Amino acid sequence: MLEYIVIATIIFAFYILSAYATTDILRLLKGSTVPVYAPDCYCDACKNKIRLIDQVPIFAYLFNRGKCHYCKCKIPPYDFLFEVFFLIALTGTNMILRFSYVGFIATVAEYELTKLIFILIKGKREESFGKNLLISLFTNVFVFLLVGALYVMLAIVRARLV
Ligand SMILES: [Zn+2]
Repeated sequence: MLEYIVIATIIFAFYILSAYATTDILRLLKGSTVPVYAPDCYCDACKNKIRLIDQVPIFAYLFNRGKCHYCKCKIPPYDFLFEVFFLIALTGTNMILRFSYVGFIATVAEYELTKLIFILIKGKREESFGKNLLISLFTNVFVFLLVGALYVMLAIVRARLV
């Protein structure tokens, strides 16, 4: 039972990670001017700050039917698809690897590889790319330390079950 609770927590962490990825990865790409560390998100059309409730990954996009709360313009489905892709890819990989430590390494590899592929395909941002990439990698270390702690917890729970 406890094992499944920890696994559910890890999947929830992937859900949070999918939202983090949209700010972390997409802000490193060509055309982006917002620093990776900026906590707020803005509508591309009306420049209004997006409310926290409208930043809830996947669900906010569905509830708002893909429209901005203020100007009702269409939000590009790109961010939404990116979040869904991340959640499915990370959960799928870990289902196969049974949420083992190898699964954790695969999670980190998948995340950073996606970042690299997107930068190569879309091109890097024109403005202070190096600085933003460094900050991005630095915060990634902290994020993955937190996620890694859940895998350690799971390993302890599993060891006690044997
Ligand atoms: Zn708007």
